[in-house]
Order: sequence, then structure tokens, then C-alpha cells
Amino acid sequence: MKVRIDKDTCQGHGQCVMLCPAVFDDDEEGFGVVKSEQVPEEAENACERAEANCPEQAIQITR
Ligand code: SF4
Repeated sequence: MKVRIDKDTCQGHGQCVMLCPAVFDDDEEGFGVVKSEQVPEEAENACERAEANCPEQAIQITR
């Protein structure tokens, strides 16, 4: 499973970091960044929750 954030769509709500800190971080301006594009297996559920809860639908998961 891989994940990316569409930087043009992200508005920096930080939900992703809260829900899945293993994969997401925020930059110095509060916008979401992906720490590792390849999602560790144990973080997949949390990553899916982050995708579902991103208010901007900026998170894209590919399998
Ligand atoms: S939850 Fe969505 S909009 Fe908010 S920081 Fe993460 S990717 Fe960006």
C-alpha cells in the first residue's frame, strides 16, 4: 500500500497526523506531508482512517 498527499488540495487541517502519525507529519506551516510513501503493514488501517477523514480528500492510497 502506498500513499501520497495532493499538496495543492491539502489545507493543513492535520487530521492525518492525528490519525496516523506513523505515516504522516506536518511541515513547518502545518500542511500534511508523507513520511514514508510505502505504508508499513501495521499502519494500513490508521492510514485508511486518515484518508477517509481528510476534509479535503487530499490523501490518495494506491495498492
Ligand atoms: S488531513 Fe488532509 S488536509 Fe489535513 S493536513 Fe492531512 S492531507 Fe492535509
